Amino acid sequence: MDNFHLSDLLESLVEIKGAVHIHTQYSDGDIEAREVISAAQTVGLDFLVFTDHMTLQAKNEGFEQFHNDLFTLVGYEHNDNQEKNHYLVFGVDAVEKEQDSPQKYIQKLKKAGGIGFLAHPSEVRNYFKKYPSYPWTDWSVTDFDGIEIWNQMSEWVENLRSWLSFIYIFYPRRFIQNAPINLLHRWDEYNRKQFVSGIGGVDAHTFHIKKGFIAFKIFPIKVELKGIRTHLYVDKEFCKRDFSTSKKIFLEAIKQGNGFISNFRRGDATGTVICLTTSDGKAFPPGKNREVVELPATFYVSIPDRAEINLIKNGRIVQQGKGTMVEFDVTDPGLYRIEIFKGKNAWIYSNPFPIGKYPLY
Ligand SMILES: [Zn+2]
Ligand SMILES: [Zn+2]
Repeated sequence: MDNFHLSDLLESLVEIKGAVHIHTQYSDGDIEAREVISAAQTVGLDFLVFTDHMTLQAKNEGFEQFHNDLFTLVGYEHNDNQEKNHYLVFGVDAVEKEQDSPQKYIQKLKKAGGIGFLAHPSEVRNYFKKYPSYPWTDWSVTDFDGIEIWNQMSEWVENLRSWLSFIYIFYPRRFIQNAPINLLHRWDEYNRKQFVSGIGGVDAHTFHIKKGFIAFKIFPIKVELKGIRTHLYVDKEFCKRDFSTSKKIFLEAIKQGNGFISNFRRGDATGTVICLTTSDGKAFPPGKNREVVELPATFYVSIPDRAEINLIKNGRIVQQGKGTMVEFDVTDPGLYRIEIFKGKNAWIYSNPFPIGKYPLY
């Protein structure tokens, strides 16, 4: 097959990439919002999403807008009254009260028009008292829109088992390998019942470490922004830079899961095309279907560098390919998604493609 481009298959869509889940001095980050914006512009991101803890101050200070070509949204990270069950919410104008039950704030934020993601749900790190883990604990909740399936900071701190692990500190991105397997399984299980979107989060804090005479900054912001990224296929209107239209388009795409997650450390995934095409000439991006997909259908995957490409169906690898372009034919309904690896390191995870009627068993 000849090379093809996103524009050929998904005519009205363009790809944008950015960093979601960024903390600043408005909560416990140690960097100013404007520094993050300038770093994001330097490394060529299309969007940034600030999510300080329990505050929308960056929005009140006017940071939610286009900064030249950089779309900047201000959401926030909600928590319960024990400071647990962190929840990233986008598209709201006010901070909700802390509550004892996550279900309460999930519902209140939804009512206020918010789109919400369970943050770093399977975080485990018990090595440092100062940085305890905050996994999601209340799995009885419903009505959330998605899950942060890959969190850069969680995975990095998990690897940092001792202050002597200096190599992790100087080469922080080297050790980001893959999204937690148990979380991917959980994500698949949810998605067999109803659509649950996935995002990758940076969880940038750029905190300082002081140990004896040594003091240095972990993860300078430019390095952080060259790690886990969320890519979205959005309507071309987004690029006209009318902020309120672009915001609507952005929120819709992230909610519907129209895109994929990449780790820049393994290569720039810009230009990746992952879609499903049917014999009647329709093409679908990843995410919640807006119409019925007629079977048989074919997945097209085109990536900017050689890698191993897996088709996952109902949580299991069912077809594999290698190279820069692969097609997978499918004939059965199910919950499909694409995972792309370079050796043992994950590079790209697509959002799911649900095919057929729920539940997808
Ligand atoms: Zn958090
Ligand atoms: Zn956070």
